[in-house]
Amino acid sequence: MTTPEIRTPRPRPDTPLLVDTFGRTGRDLRVSLTEKCSLRCTYCMPEEGLTPIPDAARMTTDEVVRLVTLAHRELGVREVRFTGGEPLMRQDLERIVARTRAACPDLPIALTSNGVGLEHRVGALVEAGLDRINISLDTVNRLEFAELTRRDRLPSVLRGVRAAVEAGLDPVKVNAVPMRATLPGAPDLLEWALAEGVQLRFIEEMPLDADNTWSRVEMVTAQELLDVLTSRFALVPAGREDPSAPAELWEVVGHSAAGAPAHVGVIATVTRNFCAACDRTRLTAEGTVRSCLFSDDETDVLGVLRAGAEDAEVAEVWRGAMWGKQAGHGIGGTAFHRPRRSMGAIGG
Ligand code: SAM
Ligand code: SF4
Repeated sequence: MTTPEIRTPRPRPDTPLLVDTFGRTGRDLRVSLTEKCSLRCTYCMPEEGLTPIPDAARMTTDEVVRLVTLAHRELGVREVRFTGGEPLMRQDLERIVARTRAACPDLPIALTSNGVGLEHRVGALVEAGLDRINISLDTVNRLEFAELTRRDRLPSVLRGVRAAVEAGLDPVKVNAVPMRATLPGAPDLLEWALAEGVQLRFIEEMPLDADNTWSRVEMVTAQELLDVLTSRFALVPAGREDPSAPAELWEVVGHSAAGAPAHVGVIATVTRNFCAACDRTRLTAEGTVRSCLFSDDETDVLGVLRAGAEDAEVAEVWRGAMWGKQAGHGIGGTAFHRPRRSMGAIGG
């Protein structure tokens, strides 16, 4: 009989930063602003939408700004990205951006949006201080788009992408999740992105759909996608934007963007996971800290704030939540189990 190894829990080092037991530091904050959405992408939401969060439970403008500001000032967060659900469903989005900018002049502010109705708001968002945008678009085929998102809104999204470029956001990144039905059209999507001057990045589908239909066998892998793209384009590996960036870049030979070679990105979240370099921390729309997409562990920092705590106290609770971050998602492993919340409910 062997004696089981007794592990002494490592004490958390004395640092204000969001460190975890695996040596990573959370620098990139994603904030979900709402569970509401104008689309119903099959790999994300159920047909009827997510269960509504009571208005009183959702973070207010003041609370979002306070939590982002303390994350930046006390915890060393270096970028914030507003997401959801669909962040454009919040009428106070421009105010959230403007007040975050006023409180944190040096903090890059980014948005992930489905682009529906963006054309009417992107000018004001840039004026308020928005620095970067990622727009999600999986196909430029109107029928396929309507089937995948359960809404016929492709023209609005295309106008939104163009408006983002015209508003001066640079680069405008377009995120696509390749699915079986849309895979043959991936070269058309790349052709469109090159013509619009936007950076296209494909992201492998993760088991975070509300309908629980994801399957490892059915999902489109990064390799399959590259095989389809290279049937029309010559691609040369171009490394990563920086060593911790999740996207592997490929130069699209013979195409340029703003005078430089054009690139397409591939994020192999499932088949080549980058958990070891993860620098994310997340806030759900109800103000809970979630340090990993795939862990159900959530810590209610909004509750602490609403109970009257000072920023320093809220920050300490957040540090504790991050210290317990798990090693990685483990998709494909025997111990893997799907998280309870779907992507739209966590904030992608
Ligand atoms: N509604 C906004 C949008 O679609 O951009 C923001 C929220 S959405 C949850 C953020 C990102 O998550 C989108 O780019 C979407 O494609 C991605 N996403 C949603 N479900 C996913 C899944 N099961 N696997 C991989 N990415 C997913
Ligand atoms: Fe809505 Fe974005 Fe989820 Fe699509 S991916 S259903 S647009 S939250």
